[in-house]
Amino acid sequence: MRKAIFLFIKLGLLVAAAVWISQRPGRLSVEWLGYAIDMPVAAALAVLLVLLALTALSYRLWLALRRGPGALGRRRNTKKREQGYRALTQGMVAVAAGDAEAAKRYAAKAESLLHEPPLTLLLSAQAAQLQGDEQAAGRYFKAMLERKETEFLGLRGLLTQAIKRGDRAAALDYARQAQALQPKAQWPAATLAELEAASGNWLEADNALAKAQKTKAMGKDDARQRRSALLVEESRAAAKSGRPDAALQAAQTAFDLDPARVPAAAQLARLRAAAGQHSKATKVLEQAWRIAPHPDLAAAWGEVSAKQTPLDLVKRYEALLALSPQSPDAHRALAKAAIAARLWGVARSHLQQAEAVEPSAATYRLFAELARAEHGDGPQARDWLARVANAEADAGWACGNCGTAHEEWHAVCAACGGFDSITWRRPPSQLPMAV
Ligand SMILES: [Zn+2]
Repeated sequence: MRKAIFLFIKLGLLVAAAVWISQRPGRLSVEWLGYAIDMPVAAALAVLLVLLALTALSYRLWLALRRGPGALGRRRNTKKREQGYRALTQGMVAVAAGDAEAAKRYAAKAESLLHEPPLTLLLSAQAAQLQGDEQAAGRYFKAMLERKETEFLGLRGLLTQAIKRGDRAAALDYARQAQALQPKAQWPAATLAELEAASGNWLEADNALAKAQKTKAMGKDDARQRRSALLVEESRAAAKSGRPDAALQAAQTAFDLDPARVPAAAQLARLRAAAGQHSKATKVLEQAWRIAPHPDLAAAWGEVSAKQTPLDLVKRYEALLALSPQSPDAHRALAKAAIAARLWGVARSHLQQAEAVEPSAATYRLFAELARAEHGDGPQARDWLARVANAEADAGWACGNCGTAHEEWHAVCAACGGFDSITWRRPPSQLPMAV
């Protein structure tokens, strides 16, 4: 409606102008460069008007032509990006579904459509890995190191590859870089600690864990237990290389971090006793024993005693039994001391009490030892040995990862490289059936 009114007003003005001009007749004549133009003023104005209109029109046309191709190109780019993102999504879905062929196809498509390497490199690497082409994956991971936003992911990929092919030195190097890059991330600290430990770098491993714990990247209990395991090994290494103070300090920290760790308590108690601190050694073992009795603690209990006559040791093991009167480990340890002191009746009585709780191979082995000490290698000793073969097998140190049995506890399983995987357990056949 308003447009129409404006149009009428414009038309009215135009007509008025035309009337005004036609009422004032006159001519316009121009002479220039030998040309002569002579026409009525009204006609001249009309020509001028037409010229102005043509100029405006051609200017608009020029603008449209200039913008045209750009707009078209932009639209094409947007479409390309959309297709690229779609290929990226489909590629990620293919990776998740384990479809190697599709993953590779979409990765290549996304790569050609999107000029955003941070997005496509990871997909390409994963697609290559799915195809089993570790070399190509490695190239993509290395390319990811070149960019700040993908460096960490690239390191993770390379680290995983190095671990898979058993290249511990390279893995350690990548883990150190990843940890330095993102000290607050959990996996680099945990992996770095394991790799340092596997390389026997106990203190470096402990540092990695301490950092992880401080930044709350790792659960407090988790970090404490792992550090405790490392420090037991560090203490052993220090003692072996003639650094008793460092050995004692590491063992004390290991024990403080995890008093339930039997090797830590045994190590600390032995070092204290070696330094002449027998009552401190006894206190450590008492504390650990109250958490859980263990044959290794019982063995250390006798070793760290200041008095070593057979009767002294019997008395000492009576004190241990008093801490946990039901413990078959305490009964067996006391029986063993009694055999050494030739107190046959005492030994038999405690072996019978141990048998009532735990009729195990260890119990019958001591019965056989008692019979041999008392009566020599006769039929009685043989009878007991026969029962050893049929008895419940003894618990021992074994790796939870690979099942390998170990004479003594170690922080790293020599068979499979598992970290803190060796625990005290019964052989698999003796474990209760899993439901
Ligand atoms: Zn193992």
